[in-house]
Amino acid sequence: MKRKASLALLLGLMGMLVLVGAGEFKGAKPSYLDGSYEGLAASHGGDLSVTVVVKGSKIKSVTVKATDTAGISDAAIEQLPAAIVKAQSAEVDVISGASETSEAIKEAVKDALKGAILYPVAKTVKADVVVIGGGNAGLAAAVEASNRGAKVILLEKMAALGGNSIRSGGAFNAADPARQQKQGIEDSPQKHYEQTLAGGDNKGDPELVRTLTDGAPKALAWLEGMGMKFDDKVFTVLGALWPRSHAAIDPVGTGFIKTLKAAADKNKVQILVDMKADQIIRENGRVTGVVAVGKDGKRIRYNAKFGVVLATGGFAANKEMRQKYDARITPNLGTTNHPGATGDGIVMATAIGSGLVGMEYIQMLPLGDPKTGALDGWVGFNVEDYIYINKQGKRFVSEAERRDVMTQALIKQTDQFMYIVCDAHSMPTPQTKNSFNQTAEQCVKNGSAFTADTIEELAVKIGVDPAAFRKTVDEYNAGVDSKNDPFGKKLLGQHIDKAPFYASPRVPTVHHTMGGVRINAKAQVLDAKGAVIPGLFAAGEVTGGIHGTNRLGGNALADTIVFGRIAGQGVVELK
Ligand code: ADP
Repeated sequence: MKRKASLALLLGLMGMLVLVGAGEFKGAKPSYLDGSYEGLAASHGGDLSVTVVVKGSKIKSVTVKATDTAGISDAAIEQLPAAIVKAQSAEVDVISGASETSEAIKEAVKDALKGAILYPVAKTVKADVVVIGGGNAGLAAAVEASNRGAKVILLEKMAALGGNSIRSGGAFNAADPARQQKQGIEDSPQKHYEQTLAGGDNKGDPELVRTLTDGAPKALAWLEGMGMKFDDKVFTVLGALWPRSHAAIDPVGTGFIKTLKAAADKNKVQILVDMKADQIIRENGRVTGVVAVGKDGKRIRYNAKFGVVLATGGFAANKEMRQKYDARITPNLGTTNHPGATGDGIVMATAIGSGLVGMEYIQMLPLGDPKTGALDGWVGFNVEDYIYINKQGKRFVSEAERRDVMTQALIKQTDQFMYIVCDAHSMPTPQTKNSFNQTAEQCVKNGSAFTADTIEELAVKIGVDPAAFRKTVDEYNAGVDSKNDPFGKKLLGQHIDKAPFYASPRVPTVHHTMGGVRINAKAQVLDAKGAVIPGLFAAGEVTGGIHGTNRLGGNALADTIVFGRIAGQGVVELK
């Protein structure tokens, strides 16, 4: 049963592939890429698998392995492969009397060939390395590969670089004794490792987690070495579980992109925007290039002598795909993501045999703008210094909890709605900026936050019971003093008692897709059986297996730089 279910999932994905791939090029006659391809389909007696060999762009042989009842299916198994070879297509007549097996063979051959079909291209361009995606991970890979002398082409489908990386709050987790000791914070890569692994319910791959947490301090130093500036004071970004988040000085994620783009430009990386990759080319087992489509609709083949780095980000903006993997993530939920986070990399990589891991682990945040789902527009900064209240003016969860725990608690509140409440300890002046480069004053002006000089006045403005709100704040402040918070919050900062006070309405929003293509610690992409796919590397949100069920806040940017660097180094050095 389980096998059937996973097969159904696979077939669903294939359906999507056919839509993305073939539908766009009706009439264009495809050729086949050389190699040996495996395909799978459900048949009467169980799964049926085929091996299709393509040589000289021609289908040379089809071999069927079936568990169907012998006798009934024999005719199809004996006759159909030859017919397919003769027709050079799976579109052949079924064998009467064995139609079910015939259909299954045809389906399995189509499945096998989906990674082999190459539609005509307008031209072919040569490079050593092709990077798909121009967020942090792709840019970091491009910089490291070009640092090693490779000629790199980076393809970005949107009109500008940046992806989700540039929209993020810019918090970067790394153990950093030089900064942390000044604030009396004890930390180490080992502690970061343990918290990351446990924070994802031990579903992350320990080797990948270790690579992330050991690599994070070096990645931070690498960025700083290229001139990127971080605040000297570390903080705790929402869901980070520990004060090791480094705030970029430039607004939101712009500092990362600016720094990486400058380094890429210096190394003469060719960056092409409005260029959407839609196929990874795998020939004779090895990934050799990418096909991408420009704004003019022309398909261009980019050959990659050393290999390809896949860095296309996640799929939180693809409502169909996210709901397919987690039915609770309904289409009405907004997302913090940029519109290009549609999982293209997942579709392209699985078409050539990549394994997937943890696709069902999709992170929601309790911090969405009620109208858009966006992450910006709220007043506050440090986990230690704000509280959440529901429409009854009551707290309902520790604000220092894991992101999944907080979001699930929010979902249980009236209208799945809360206010995030802070005071002048977080925002010393109305001109103080949040992580999204917005002043408290701007947030109030544009209606995304409310302010007042007393808790009671604020309560009236946001329509909650003043007495209940007052009691909540008093109890919180008492817990700060006694270090015994009623909701078990361990990261406690200041009282909430200094005017002006702020409240920002927030709802659940879809944020990060923890699952993705399976990689090893060298950022090499693995196939469904765990073998390396030669010539293909991946990094960033398109990959899975690092964050387990729940990603810690501030770990994504660290992930993109650590694994982006490894992918860029590996694609040159392991070629
Ligand atoms: P990460 O840094 O984790 O890779 P980002 O979301 O910051 O994640 O960056 C991913 C980038 O990949 C985005 O800029 C996105 O537009 C780009 N991208 C996604 N799909 C494609 C595609 N098919 N072709 C080219 N670029 C793509």
